[in-house]
Amino acid sequence: MSRSNRASRRDFLAAAAGLSTYSVYVLAEGSRPASGADSAPDLPDIRAGFEAISPMEPGLAARRFEGEPHMTLVDLECDLLVAGGGPSGVCAALAAARNGARVVLCQDRSRLGGNSSSEVKMHVVGANNHRGRPGWREGGIIEELRLDDAANNPQRCWELWDLLLYDKLVSEPNVTLLLDTVVFAADVQGGRIDRVMARCDKTEHLYRISSKTYADCTGDSRLALEAGATIRWGHESRAEFNEPLAWEEPTRETLGSSVLFTARDFGTPMPYAPPSWARKIDESHLRFRPISSWEYGYWWIEWGGITDTIRDNERIRFELLSIVTGVWDYVKNSGKFPGAETWAMDWVGMVPGKRESRRVEGDHVLTQHDLMGLNGEPNDAVAIGGWGLDEHPPGGFDAIEQPPFVSIKLPEVYNIPLRSLYSKDVENLFIAGRNASCSHVAFTSTRVMATCAVMGQAAGTAAALCVRDGITPRQLVGDDRAVFGLQQALLRDDQTIKGVRNEDPADLARSARVSASGAYESSRPENVTNGLVRDMEGEMDNRWIAPLSADGAWVELDWDAPQELSRVQLTFDTGFHRELTLTSSDSHNSHMIRAPQPETVRDYALIARLEDGREVELARVSGNHQRLRRHAFDPIRAKSLRVHVSATNGEDTARLYEIRCYA
Ligand SMILES: Cc1cc2nc3c(=O)[nH]c(=O)nc-3n(C[C@H](O)[C@H](O)[C@H](O)COP(=O)(O)OP(=O)(O)OC[C@H]3O[C@@H](n4cnc5c(N)ncnc54)[C@H](O)[C@@H]3O)c2cc1C
Repeated sequence: MSRSNRASRRDFLAAAAGLSTYSVYVLAEGSRPASGADSAPDLPDIRAGFEAISPMEPGLAARRFEGEPHMTLVDLECDLLVAGGGPSGVCAALAAARNGARVVLCQDRSRLGGNSSSEVKMHVVGANNHRGRPGWREGGIIEELRLDDAANNPQRCWELWDLLLYDKLVSEPNVTLLLDTVVFAADVQGGRIDRVMARCDKTEHLYRISSKTYADCTGDSRLALEAGATIRWGHESRAEFNEPLAWEEPTRETLGSSVLFTARDFGTPMPYAPPSWARKIDESHLRFRPISSWEYGYWWIEWGGITDTIRDNERIRFELLSIVTGVWDYVKNSGKFPGAETWAMDWVGMVPGKRESRRVEGDHVLTQHDLMGLNGEPNDAVAIGGWGLDEHPPGGFDAIEQPPFVSIKLPEVYNIPLRSLYSKDVENLFIAGRNASCSHVAFTSTRVMATCAVMGQAAGTAAALCVRDGITPRQLVGDDRAVFGLQQALLRDDQTIKGVRNEDPADLARSARVSASGAYESSRPENVTNGLVRDMEGEMDNRWIAPLSADGAWVELDWDAPQELSRVQLTFDTGFHRELTLTSSDSHNSHMIRAPQPETVRDYALIARLEDGREVELARVSGNHQRLRRHAFDPIRAKSLRVHVSATNGEDTARLYEIRCYA
């Protein structure tokens, strides 16, 4: 870890004028190569990272911030500062870091995951609409997380999901993670964010973070607000974007927040006494809100859409808890649910899960027309969505005469453009997640967490490319070659973009002949280089599938002339036609496999034949459950490359979507 005196002399805030401070480069410049899903952490480096964020130095008095005499001021520098560690922020940070950027991620709570963390326990859904659109589970980082969680957390423990996200970030060499740290101010110079201010009261540190790019993944657009970006709140009028589903008049009303709970059967009578302030619930409240199971609370315990979901959070928490305890009192003590006698709550949320607050305006505001495919495909498509347009009454639980949601299924999965993932006013500010640039109507679909995650992956990857090339997001979008480069970089990391296929000129597999030990029907060996990595249910046009005999099965690439190779990447089948998420709902969970997915190749070897005819084993893997696997090795000159599959996680066929090879 290198320290430097290169702290800017400029004031961050007026209050900081003339301060002499502590300046720390987060990572030694050029210290590490870009990592990937298969990179292994270096334990001493993880430990050394803590010195950078809480330095031990004498002369503390010189590092005080005016007005904050007990806080220690630390300067950090990076390529991308991510504010907010929900699904969008986690994926933005990982994507940028794996593409070579030095990242600082500030998350204001102790856990990552936002509404998917154990604090809220909301299950991650996305373009496949639960099981409504089979085949469209998102690829990329969110798939990597889902697969790890399913394989290692069959017991469905939410805290293990938190731990998985923590593990991914602390294990990523290019990420510095600041938990319990809130971003609260931004210094903007000439339309760019120059530095942000963050504080961790638990460690008594103030961080002044200078970054080349920034990503607001706070859900609440806090960083964008501080930077003076144009913000939207609530419903637009129908006239503004001519959206049929928009309300006639604009309003500041929003979707409300929710508190979930979990409960289980203890096999013995479990009495329940509600607090004195619990609401008194009767049948009239539940006309449109049926109680059909008890294990996973009720998302329709929603409140606050007619207040301010940021300013009034404390009151919203109270109202939600009063409804939760009132509803559970009704379940337990009304006499209408005799089977609930042996059930008891074993967890109740204390963090209101926020659905909606501010959104940032980008160069493009995504609207209902975009989602319905009426505006054609955007040239700068970087991610997909597909959840229905899922509107809730702002009154939430109190709107007892209205159903708690109205959902309109979209005809198809839609593409999200990069222009909706950066601020139109602040030139180095990306946005992703529920605060992305959408109309309220479009937001009712984009807000689900797998969609937030893929927006994060797109924004993080774009940020890394902007830093590498010294350009702004708007300049990137304006350059067709740069957009092509971004899309290809995203596909290489298994991000899904509808209608875009692998055309990576650096991928040497694309020029190879392909043969195999066998193949079923249309699942030809050549499919592994056709550029597409997804089949719809019942189709096999983009995968190779072969019977797995006692000797296994193989697929081979051959080149006329030897090729220099040092990296190979494989995309396996992980059963995209099934839903996969961590949920406390027994009925949703019954459709998932909480284990390695049976289609996925478990044991395999990579074998190359060299120029001189010798065969070398480049990699041998056992126990795989991931979709995307990367292998790096000392450069070789290969005439052919064989993937030899010896076992899967259950199926009796070997399956592979893609092989890529790089020099
Ligand atoms: C009850 C409920 C039900 C829902 N149902 C579903 C569902 O079934 N499936 C689904 O996929 N989605 C669902 N959603 C929507 C989804 O949870 C959110 O839209 C999604 O979590 C947004 O992700 P995000 O990363 O943008 O933000 P969040 O998940 O809100 O994460 C943002 C994070 O940033 C942190 N943060 C905020 N401000 C700062 C700051 N200044 N500095 C540092 N950190 C900060 C926050 O603490 C938070 O952890 C539901 C939401 C709710 C509340």
